[in-house]
Amino acid sequence: MKILRLILGDQLNINHSWFKETSSDVTYLMAEMRQETDYVTHHIQKIIAFFTAMRNFASTLKEKGHQVVYYTVNDPKNPQNLPDLIHQVLAETKATHFEYQLPDEFRLDTQLHDLAAALPLETRGVDTEHFYTDRNTLAQFFHGKKQFLMESFYRMMRRKHSVLMQGDQPFGGQWNYDHDNRKKWTGNPPIPPHGIPNIDVAQLVNEIKSAGIHTIGSIDTENFSWPVTRNASLQLLDHFCNFQLPFFGTYQDAMHQGEPFLFHSRLSFALNTKLLGPEEVVTRVEQEYFKRPDEIHISQAEGFIRQILGWREYMRGIYWREMPSYAQRNKLENNNPLPAFFWTGDTQMNCLKQAITQSLETAYAHHIQRLMITGNFALLMQTNPDEVDAWYLGIYIDALQWVEITNTRGMSQFADGGLLATKPYISSANYIRNMSNYCSGCAYNPKEALGETACPFNS
Ligand code: FAD
Ligand code: SF4
Repeated sequence: MKILRLILGDQLNINHSWFKETSSDVTYLMAEMRQETDYVTHHIQKIIAFFTAMRNFASTLKEKGHQVVYYTVNDPKNPQNLPDLIHQVLAETKATHFEYQLPDEFRLDTQLHDLAAALPLETRGVDTEHFYTDRNTLAQFFHGKKQFLMESFYRMMRRKHSVLMQGDQPFGGQWNYDHDNRKKWTGNPPIPPHGIPNIDVAQLVNEIKSAGIHTIGSIDTENFSWPVTRNASLQLLDHFCNFQLPFFGTYQDAMHQGEPFLFHSRLSFALNTKLLGPEEVVTRVEQEYFKRPDEIHISQAEGFIRQILGWREYMRGIYWREMPSYAQRNKLENNNPLPAFFWTGDTQMNCLKQAITQSLETAYAHHIQRLMITGNFALLMQTNPDEVDAWYLGIYIDALQWVEITNTRGMSQFADGGLLATKPYISSANYIRNMSNYCSGCAYNPKEALGETACPFNS
C-alpha cells in the first residue's frame, strides 16, 4: 500500500497524528499554486507568509524523516491547480491510496471532495485535529433556535472544556468582563517592543515577482515580522503572555495613530495556518492568569480567551452551518462599489486613512479598526458585500474565508440580516473620537453633522 497525503497551506499542524510515525509508504504533497494566489488579489505579505511557512513546514517534515514532494511556485512542473497536481503526483508515486485533511474553506472542501470521489482508488478525508469543535457542533447546539447568541455558545464551551471555571460557575463570578474593557489608550502603559526577530524574505519576493503574481500592499523584504515557523509562533505567544496580556482586555477596543498593534497578540496567522493550536493558546493564557493573578486581572485573561474559545469557534460553526448560501447574502440590498481609496488610503478622513494605510503597510488591522472604521464606512456607503469581502480576504495576513466572511458579511455588514450580530455595527464620529486619537489630526470636525467640514460619519 502506497499513500499520498495532501497538506494545504493552512494545515501546518505538526502535532497532527499523521506525523507521529514515518513510513516509506507515505508521501506528503505540498504545492504553492496559482489557484490559491489568484482567487482574490492578496497582500504581498500574505503570500510571502504562507509560502515561507509552507517551505519551513516541509523542511521540518523532511528533517523528521518524512518523504515530501514540494512544488515551488516557479517550478515548471507545477500544475498550479489541485486536480492536475494530484493526478500528476499519484501517477509519479504510484500511490494506491489518497488522503487529505478536511479543508476549512468551502471552495476547497468541494473541490477535494469531488476530486476524491472521481479517483479510481481508495480515498479518505481526515480531521485537521486543530479546532475545539467539529463542523457541526454549533448547528447541533443551536438546533431549533432562531437566534444564535455567541454568549450562550461561549458559556457552553467554557463549561465543556473547563476553562476559567470553578465547578459549574465562572471563575471570578462573572462570565464576561467586556464592561471593564473599553478604555482609550493615551500613551501609558508603553507599548512593548516587537516580539520576534525579523527575517529576510527578499529571495521569495523576487520569486513572487518573476511568477507575475498580482499583489497589493508593501513589504520590507529585510524585516519581515510575521511568525512563519512553529518556534516563532511559540515565541510570539510567550511575548504576548509576558508583555501584552496584562493590558489586553483594557485596551482591546482602543485605536491609536502610529500604533497598529497596541496590546493585540498578532497570533491570528499562526492560529489560522495551524502552526499553533487554539487549545494550547487558551491553556497557556489561563495558566498565566493563575500564575500571575496580581499582574493579570481576570478581565484581561477572560477577554482574550473569549476571542479564541468563543468567537473563533463560533464563526467556524456559523460558516459550516450557513455555507454556501452565506456567500450570496445581501439582506440590506447594498450595491454600491467599494470606495476607490480603500486600495490606496488616499482620503482626508484620518481614521480611514490610518486604518487603510496601516493595512497596506502591515497586512494587519485589529478587530475594532476592521469593524468600526473600514467596516463601518463600507456599510454606511451601502457597499456591495461581495466587494467588501474581496477586500478583506485579500488584504489581511490572517484572512481565510471561514473566518473572514462570517466577520465581514455577517458581523460587520449585516448582510445575513442579523443571524450573528444583534444590530448593524455603524456609528457616528463619537465612538471613533472616544476610542482613538484619529479625529485630532483630521480635516473634518467630529462634532459637526452638517456643512463642509462635518465628519462624514455624522453627515
Ligand atoms: P487579538 O486581538 O490578539 O485576538 C486573539 C485571537 O482571537 C486572534 O488571533 C483570533 O484568532 C481570535 N479572534 C479575535 N476576534 C475574532 C473574531 N471576531 N473572529 C474570529 N476569531 C477572532 N480574523 C481572522 O482570523 N481572519 C479574518 O479574515 C478576519 N477578518 C475579519 C474581518 C472583519 C470585518 C472583522 C471585524 C474581524 C475580522 N477578524 C478576522 C477577526 C479579528 O479582527 C482578527 O482575528 C484579529 O484582528 C487578529 O489579530 P490578533 O491576532 O492580534 O488578535
Ligand atoms: Fe474619522 Fe470623522 Fe474623526 Fe475624521 S472626524 S477621524 S472622518 S471620525
